Amino acid sequence: MHELSICQALLTQVSEIARRHAGNNVGRIVVAVGPLSGVEPSLLAAAFRLARSGSCAAKAELRFEPAPVRVRCRECGAESECRPNRIFCADCGGYRIEVVSGDELRLLRIELSATDDVPHRPPSERTN
Ligand SMILES: [Zn+2]
Repeated sequence: MHELSICQALLTQVSEIARRHAGNNVGRIVVAVGPLSGVEPSLLAAAFRLARSGSCAAKAELRFEPAPVRVRCRECGAESECRPNRIFCADCGGYRIEVVSGDELRLLRIELSATDDVPHRPPSERTN
């Protein structure tokens, strides 16, 4: 399943970041999904619910932010933004373009929540 392997890669990235920030409870994961990425957000969300169990993001919410489609024109060299179903140069109307962005799936940010399951200091450590 394509989406599941994407989620696993995402979670590897997330757990690395969480570890670096000494966080062990990921509250939210925000990803940008380009319209040309071929990734269906609803399928990705379903796969995420399977993939997250047992990870530091077991309770995390996955959020999507739309990513714009940007193209570079081979005719006039202009770079412009366009709609995923109308891909042409905004400057000259040329169709000979290359996609600059919009076909990616990118981790934008993660939000680490303050953990409440840190082991409490055992009473024996208290000094009397
Ligand atoms: Zn152009």
